[in-house]
Amino acid sequence: MQEILDELVSGMRQEPDWGEVANYIPELGSIPLRQFAIAISTPDGRLFSAGDADTPFSIQSVSKVFTLAIALGRVGDQLWHRVGREPSGNAFNSIVLLENEKGRPRNPFINAGAIVTTDEILAGRTPGQALAEIVQFIRAAADDTEIHINKAVARSETANGNRNFALAHFLASYDNLKNPPEMVLGTYFHQCAIEMTVRQLARAGRFLVNAQGSPTIISRERARRICALMMTCGHYNGSGEFAFQVGLPGKSGVGGGILAVVPGVASIAVWSPGLNAQGNSLLGTKALAQLARRMGWSVF
Ligand code: GLU
Repeated sequence: MQEILDELVSGMRQEPDWGEVANYIPELGSIPLRQFAIAISTPDGRLFSAGDADTPFSIQSVSKVFTLAIALGRVGDQLWHRVGREPSGNAFNSIVLLENEKGRPRNPFINAGAIVTTDEILAGRTPGQALAEIVQFIRAAADDTEIHINKAVARSETANGNRNFALAHFLASYDNLKNPPEMVLGTYFHQCAIEMTVRQLARAGRFLVNAQGSPTIISRERARRICALMMTCGHYNGSGEFAFQVGLPGKSGVGGGILAVVPGVASIAVWSPGLNAQGNSLLGTKALAQLARRMGWSVF
């Protein structure tokens, strides 16, 4: 496995096109483009990694997998009254469907759906308590207490968050927020600003693997369902292409990270900050496609 990862990394380093880093906030826009890392964690806790595997990056929308797990743990199927389970075919921050569908976001992985999910976690809690719960969940999943929020990234998200504020106010106008938009977004921006390395993220994803030895912090049934949503909705309007190329459930973030799951076998984290046109890591996707082919990993 280690050999395969080393080969994969040297192949990636020779790629001519590294995509473009997200530039909607300066903290992400200034990240050096030519970085690549991959880690694989098996259910019994073995960890393989290669490349820039000790460099923390902003997990951004990968956090939506963890908040979905927490919200489902809190309110179960009730969540689906407020958010759907269909791919949107739209960009991560699109507002167009929200009006047509009367304020019920298509799925929990587009921004509007993730804002509703975070609102559910906030019910009966302060933002500080909700964030402590989110960070605690991820630390427990990764079995690592060294996972933190980058406050400067969170502040910058707030300062540049017009689109997310629009989405949150739109949701509120349809009575689909229980807490004030500012409070929900404050929490959402901080959850997006959590930083992890691929080694930490691969370990944190083991609860979705559903195999002997993987942590059961949520039920198997729920892990399966989260994986189904990752497959259909985890890459925004690039979800179909990711399923076609990689054939595994995955969730991307604009920081360039992707968490992918090989059900019953392993959790994989990749990171390369350059994005493709749909806002998903260009080389991260490429590497996952190569790895899946080489290992014969696919849910199909
Ligand atoms: N914080 C980003 C936003 O809400 C997350 C987007 C992403 O990772 O796709 O705009």
